[in-house]
Amino acid sequence: MRAMADDVVARCVAHIESLPQQPACGDVDAAALCRAMREAAPEQGATLDSLLDPLFRDWIPRSFTAPGPGYLAFIPGGGLYPAALADLITNTVNRYTGVWMAAPALVQLEANALDWLRAWMDFPADARGLFTSGGSMATFNGILCARERHLGADIRPGVLYTSDQAHHSVLKSAKLAGIMPDRVRAIESDDRFRIRLDRLREAIAADRRSGLRPFAVVSNAGTVNTGAVDPLDDIADLCAAEQLWHHMDGAYGAFFYLAPELRQTLRGLPRADSLTLDPHKGLFLPYGTGALLVRDGAALRAAHEATAAYLPSMPHPQDFYDPSQHGPELSRGFPGLRVWLSVKLYGAAAFRAAIAEKRALAVDAFQRVARLPGIVVDAEPELSLFAFHLTAPGWSLAQEDAATRALMQRTTARGRVMVTGSHTHGRYLGRVCVLSFRTHEPQIDALVEDFAAVIAELR
Ligand SMILES: *Cc1c(COP(=O)(O)O)cnc(C)c1O
Repeated sequence: MRAMADDVVARCVAHIESLPQQPACGDVDAAALCRAMREAAPEQGATLDSLLDPLFRDWIPRSFTAPGPGYLAFIPGGGLYPAALADLITNTVNRYTGVWMAAPALVQLEANALDWLRAWMDFPADARGLFTSGGSMATFNGILCARERHLGADIRPGVLYTSDQAHHSVLKSAKLAGIMPDRVRAIESDDRFRIRLDRLREAIAADRRSGLRPFAVVSNAGTVNTGAVDPLDDIADLCAAEQLWHHMDGAYGAFFYLAPELRQTLRGLPRADSLTLDPHKGLFLPYGTGALLVRDGAALRAAHEATAAYLPSMPHPQDFYDPSQHGPELSRGFPGLRVWLSVKLYGAAAFRAAIAEKRALAVDAFQRVARLPGIVVDAEPELSLFAFHLTAPGWSLAQEDAATRALMQRTTARGRVMVTGSHTHGRYLGRVCVLSFRTHEPQIDALVEDFAAVIAELR
């Protein structure tokens, strides 16, 4: 066992050490490779080395270098190494954490970690939460709570509202929760990509007039397209007045609530009925850790409570947390340990400082990119993401789109940073998102230098 682990750890550490030298985006043009990789289950085993060799040498590098310092694409996170060790422990000791009584002290660690998220987000003491595999699943469970609370069994007339900037997982989650696409309204956003409240009010009134039942609004605490933060406080007011459930998608943005200077931008966040967080983004954990907070903890429990004849029926005191009574899974991994171990190891102050640093780096990057020739800013960084396009005298929209796309691609091809764009409000926008704990000033310098060089070629 030790020899196997030593081999794996040595390769993992070497891999992490090599991240700054790896191209920001590996060669993912790999369809032929993948076809060649298809094989039947082997009859006979093989040595660990013979399996790890191609894994680390050939397959891992053929990917976006998502844990690397230069990853400024999509929404980064990084992947803290101790969280991987937590997973090793979890999988080695293999205890059952689906029900409280099977591993009470371990489940308490998970409950603690959830309660830290609750306290950081200024949610009330009786709020409850759930670790999920990601933000999408958290949103799914949030919408499910809203549906149960407001519609009961009469699902079909229920209408859900979000903005045209919502992450596609909102529509998908709604559908999985039984709210079909014809009952989801993508409300127009304003020129800062925030939901238009006047249009939202109109849509709710129109649906009520036609006999439908508005039941939920999903707001954005940081969109994936441009980083826009909806007027969260105003939406909370509207939801209170209209008796709607307010779910907030904070998969990208919620952890910026830890930065005092962004409290104003995110004001109203603690008023959400439910909140999606993604610790694998803003808490820098490896992929596979999302979280949901529900203000009325009883609603989360009511939506998921279930029992069976063979399960331990011994009721435990209500102040203990039972994961399987708060989420759809029974048997599961132990997601709480990666969060618990990482936060205990580094302390909350380190996470707050890292979040503040990402914000500062993004502001710096924004100010320097905005000064480059031909850059037109479309969205300033409200949190740590900004969006822009490239122009030159006489260029058409199609030329601007093509040039902006080329700017993202050629900058990424230079290997030091990876950047991606998005189609928003009728044009292609370049975007930069700073959220990896490994990203620091040298990567921002590289970004600005490479942008400047590529812009000179393109113009
Ligand atoms: C990442 C993201 C999601 C989806 O979360 P997953 O963890 O990828 O499932 C949803 N909304 C926003 C704003 C995001 O950034």
